[in-house]
Amino acid sequence: MSLTALPSSTVSAPGLVPGLAPRIPPYFLNTDHRQRCLAQLRSKSTGLEKYIYLSGLKERDPNLFYEVLLGNMLEIIPILYTPTVGDACSSYSHIWRRPEGLYVSIENKGHIKQILQTWPGGLASRIAVVTDGSRILGLGDLGANGLPISIGKLDLYIAGAGIKPTSTVPICLDLGTNTQKFLEDPLYIGVRRKRPGTTEMDAFMEEFMQAMRDVFPMLLVQFEDFSTDNAFRYLDLFRNQYRCFNDDIQGTGAVILSGFINAARLSSAASGKPLSEHRILFFGAGSAGIGVAKQLLSFFSLLGLSEEEAKSSIYTVDSKGLITADRKGLQEHKKFFARTDYQGPPLTNLTDIIGFVKPTALLGLSTIRGAFTEDVVKLMSSLNTRPIIFPLSNPVSLCEVDYSDAIKWTNGSVIFASGSPYKAMEFEGKVYEPGQGNNMYIFPGIGMGAILSKARHVTDAMVEQAAIALSSSLSQEEQSSELVYPRLARIRDISAQIALAVIRAAQKDDVDENTLFRNLGDNALLDYIKAKQWQPCATHNSNASNAPRL
Ligand code: NAP
Ligand code: MN
Repeated sequence: MSLTALPSSTVSAPGLVPGLAPRIPPYFLNTDHRQRCLAQLRSKSTGLEKYIYLSGLKERDPNLFYEVLLGNMLEIIPILYTPTVGDACSSYSHIWRRPEGLYVSIENKGHIKQILQTWPGGLASRIAVVTDGSRILGLGDLGANGLPISIGKLDLYIAGAGIKPTSTVPICLDLGTNTQKFLEDPLYIGVRRKRPGTTEMDAFMEEFMQAMRDVFPMLLVQFEDFSTDNAFRYLDLFRNQYRCFNDDIQGTGAVILSGFINAARLSSAASGKPLSEHRILFFGAGSAGIGVAKQLLSFFSLLGLSEEEAKSSIYTVDSKGLITADRKGLQEHKKFFARTDYQGPPLTNLTDIIGFVKPTALLGLSTIRGAFTEDVVKLMSSLNTRPIIFPLSNPVSLCEVDYSDAIKWTNGSVIFASGSPYKAMEFEGKVYEPGQGNNMYIFPGIGMGAILSKARHVTDAMVEQAAIALSSSLSQEEQSSELVYPRLARIRDISAQIALAVIRAAQKDDVDENTLFRNLGDNALLDYIKAKQWQPCATHNSNASNAPRL
């Protein structure tokens, strides 16, 4: 039973807590129930058990769940999101307990509107995270098991920006799966068919997006973990038509741009080389790699370089080596950065590629564990006073280089940010702190800004300004510790600053349907945003005497 929905007792007797049913232990209120939940959570031995416990807690008592989450974000986010959400998705058909989101199936084609109308949030819905389960994290096609990724991401919007839980809609599109194991699993919860071809899927997506707008007129749609080609295609198809964005492409791009701005400043300060002379090598050219590369163009354009000049500072590598324009059968999304200035046999070895490019920054989005070998890192170090190395593949087991190795092999000179968290480390008497290019820094603020301004679209400038706001959000202490990202513990404050920048960019691009903010100064608008951040109401003995505060 939910503690927030306790029937009030009409019985009064000595020792009974007024208003509470006698089934509640008499001295319960003298204890801190949040601490009890935390202890119960910590008693679970596997990540998956912790995930199941938290999802049960959310069902029983959402307020309490968010109170515990907000008080312990650094501990709980890795359970609700990467890495543990990966386990939850992989085994979702088996751990399924109760409805937690909306499924729209390919079999609903022609009736999608009616399906969406069943969602209890109705017109109050403001943000949906939509996945088709086709490329969940680095785990491949998980089909209808993908729903936890939408749920987890929305929890981060709630925790990070203070989006109201009741305005969120987690959606999994059940379009079949090409993973045979699931099709053969008697407990698989999705439709038992292979994924549709492009024509059938496009028709479904067109109907879905139209129906979403009809049923939820104020809704922002965030696409999540679609397979690479579809991620790019649907973003292009829908971004000027609907209020939508893709976090894997745009959110990642923005968060890395932000960290890169700060890293490039540190690197240039050490080398004395101008910012415009940075050369960036992308190892991995999937949706994340190309999305980040496109966003990093604005690092150079903000410095006044033309698009051509900016493009010439960026090199991309895929499983076949340095991407060149003369390669046959090059996928569409790789063409933009394909080089025309390399003649010769294909460059396939990373050290050879680095020798040719002489990058100041090496970014990994390849999912290849250990790809940045000692040779690679030492070569980067020999070329740069302070090499920028961002191994961004998640989870840690796919990361291109561990933090401790990067520090050791560069004698501490590396400017480092990874996709997954690493701990601070001591090396030759000095403490080094890694950055984490976690999308969570950016998407809650983009969501909040787009929602509050009622932006018709999420424009490039809104995403770019979000990145700049994040890079400028470092405190004095964070700057003197040479961090490239602020500390995640300040996420609500950071999200408010990002939302402010996003709203201002929406105004400039004239996509803000809510024009009221145009007359508000920055401080007043920031106060407004902060006041709009949802907080769980403290109902759980937060004043319990002797109880440690969370
Ligand atoms: P993806 O679509 O599978 O792309 C992987 C890319 O790496 C492809 O271009 C692939 O080449 C290339 N690659 C694979 N093996 C390689 C090799 N041996 N040498 C060189 N390149 C190789 O994956 P994605 O969606 O872009 O995501 C990539 C990684 O980024 C994931 O681990 C994800 O977790 C991470 N990511 C991080 C963040 C973050 O840090 N904020 C955000 C989003 C994603 P081909 O094209 O030739 O197959
Ligand atoms: Mn994703």
